[in-house]
Amino acid sequence: MRNDTQGIGMTSQRTRDRLINRLRENGIRDERVLAVLRSTPRHLFMDEAMATRAYEDTALPIGFGQTISQPYIVARMTEALLQKDIPRRVLEIGTGSGYQTAVLAQLVEQVFTVERVGALLSQARQRLSALELRNIQFRLGDGYEGWPKNAPYDAILVTAAPESIPEQLLSQLGEGGRMIIPVGLTQAQRLQIITRQADEYVNEALDSVSFVPLIKGVQ
Ligand code: SAH
Repeated sequence: MRNDTQGIGMTSQRTRDRLINRLRENGIRDERVLAVLRSTPRHLFMDEAMATRAYEDTALPIGFGQTISQPYIVARMTEALLQKDIPRRVLEIGTGSGYQTAVLAQLVEQVFTVERVGALLSQARQRLSALELRNIQFRLGDGYEGWPKNAPYDAILVTAAPESIPEQLLSQLGEGGRMIIPVGLTQAQRLQIITRQADEYVNEALDSVSFVPLIKGVQ
């Protein structure tokens, strides 16, 4: 990743290190994930007006009623994704700011990302290309449908919450593949890991979380 874009002041390395320490304190253990979060300039994934808060461990607005995910959640989901083998091909649903996409692109071979809001998708595309992250393919579409053309995926990561697990996404997981997804109504979501073993799907529940809803259709 191109990294001559590091700022000063609120975006300095020291500020970022504080965030990494906090993630460690909160239980993130995977050093690969921590190293990538440490070097990824989160302040570039939001409006300048918000950038002074970029290294707080909190979700922040990115317009269109959407948010850039909290760093702890990005770390937690990415850690869960890497738990066994490193997946090669990963489908991400809900590009949003592109921050989680940037993190994934530095850890896996190929990222496919789907977003329903065109303006967010093109902004994310520009940011990721400015960082010279080139192993990403973008699609404007409804994430409920996944991206069948490039299936199967070794992993699927969903960054908005459906009320129940979309069948279409399950069917795009390869053998042994895993999906990390928040499921449930706004007040009662759980992060789940679903692993495909032949025709069975094994489900494991993680933290209670609070994501924006996965909305049907393209905006
Ligand atoms: N990982 C992103 C999270 C953005 S919030 C980040 O850290 O910036 C969730 C995103 O999911 C929003 O951008 C929203 O527009 C998108 N989204 C919601 N429903 C969707 C759907 N059906 N298909 C694709 N994207 C969707």
